[in-house]
Amino acid sequence: MNFKVATWAECVHCGRRYDLDEMRYNCECGGILDIRRDLDAIDGAALKRTWEERWGLKRGALASGVWRYKELILDLPDDRIITRQEGNTRMYEAGLAGKYAGLKNFLLKHEGENPTGSFKDRGMTCGTTAAMMYHASSVACASTGNTSASMASYAAIAGLKSVIFIPEGKIAYGKLAQALAFGGKTLQIEGNFDDAMALVQDVCRELNIYLLNSINPFRIEGQKAIGFEVLQQLDWQVPDWFVIPGGNLGNNSALSKGMQELYQLGIIDKIPRIAVIQAAGADPLYKMWKNHTPFAPVKDPETIATAIKIGNPVSWEKSLRGLEWCHGVVEEVTEQEIMDAKAMVDAAGIGAEPASCCSVAGAKKLVDAGVIDPEASVVGILTGNVLKDPDAVIGYHKDELQHMGIRGTYANRPILIKPTVAAVRRALGC
Ligand SMILES: *Cc1c(COP(=O)(O)O)cnc(C)c1O
Ligand SMILES: [Zn+2]
Repeated sequence: MNFKVATWAECVHCGRRYDLDEMRYNCECGGILDIRRDLDAIDGAALKRTWEERWGLKRGALASGVWRYKELILDLPDDRIITRQEGNTRMYEAGLAGKYAGLKNFLLKHEGENPTGSFKDRGMTCGTTAAMMYHASSVACASTGNTSASMASYAAIAGLKSVIFIPEGKIAYGKLAQALAFGGKTLQIEGNFDDAMALVQDVCRELNIYLLNSINPFRIEGQKAIGFEVLQQLDWQVPDWFVIPGGNLGNNSALSKGMQELYQLGIIDKIPRIAVIQAAGADPLYKMWKNHTPFAPVKDPETIATAIKIGNPVSWEKSLRGLEWCHGVVEEVTEQEIMDAKAMVDAAGIGAEPASCCSVAGAKKLVDAGVIDPEASVVGILTGNVLKDPDAVIGYHKDELQHMGIRGTYANRPILIKPTVAAVRRALGC
């Protein structure tokens, strides 16, 4: 394969390099791979100017909030790019959620505003483009929901068959609906996400299907664009912190890799710190980081934030490396903290799915602990759309999640009344 600057795959564990002509997801040693390129051959200042020129584009592949940055994503000709013009998501003042977290300068980057309602589209546009580059005819993934929704959509656009492995009975309804609607062949397996992930890797090898989980290094390249776009929206002023949920740990790995590359190219002059937030019931990275222990999977992960209900994350090693680069921290949050933070994000008028709200719950916890300064500039990543998981929303506001140990602290209960003005008065208290 020919790229403008030398580009290769490199093992995160042992550093061995592979030519991209060879399609693979793992090193001989079992480590996972990164896409690397010769950054010394790139002029950072010129690149930044190119990206600024593309900012106002209205049509075409380079109007995408991923492919605008294609020199650091995958430098293919535009007509080989499979895109839904993903990215270009808004960044909001956190409002009520900022007060709740105790931050004066808190922005929420809403990745739930992507075409299929989660940041997964940024990785998937790149992963599907790579699938086409390798002349694949089918793609597959194991998913807690959003990956499958995204993959089914992009596969449909590219004319690829898609096969989805989801944990039985453990997927939010909005996500399952999308996977089915976009025509993904959906296999619900008896087991959890980690079982599905192990199975899909075997299946892809045996049946020669292209694997689109975040073990796929091209997906990570696409997801770097979240950070690029935030910085461009901030006129390249680097925030003090990014706060981001962690499940399979691909997204925080992407964010830190992107920041490291911008820094190396001189496009930014400092590297922001990163806080990765896990749910307390699915927290292998947190345990490892906090106790300085070797990686150990969490056996039966449990959390209402199904998007991060993962006990054996594939990208833990990339994630740790990113924490080093970004002087990062890892925090964990309880079910109650996630759902209360979500109530604030939602009541602020912004709205996001449960996993996303780890960003706000985690920011609050780190401010309370004195790790994040209340005056610091902080960007929280909201990873998915509020409509992805209506059951969690209704359950909280009707205070019907007690069986999961969650109270509706800020519940906004629906009220059933007789159709009379008097009843309305009573309900409104006037
Ligand atoms: C996938 C996902 C996450 C977790 O991202 P990882 O890269 O697996 O750590 C968090 N939130 C939402 C909404 C997701 O879809
Ligand atoms: Zn290796």
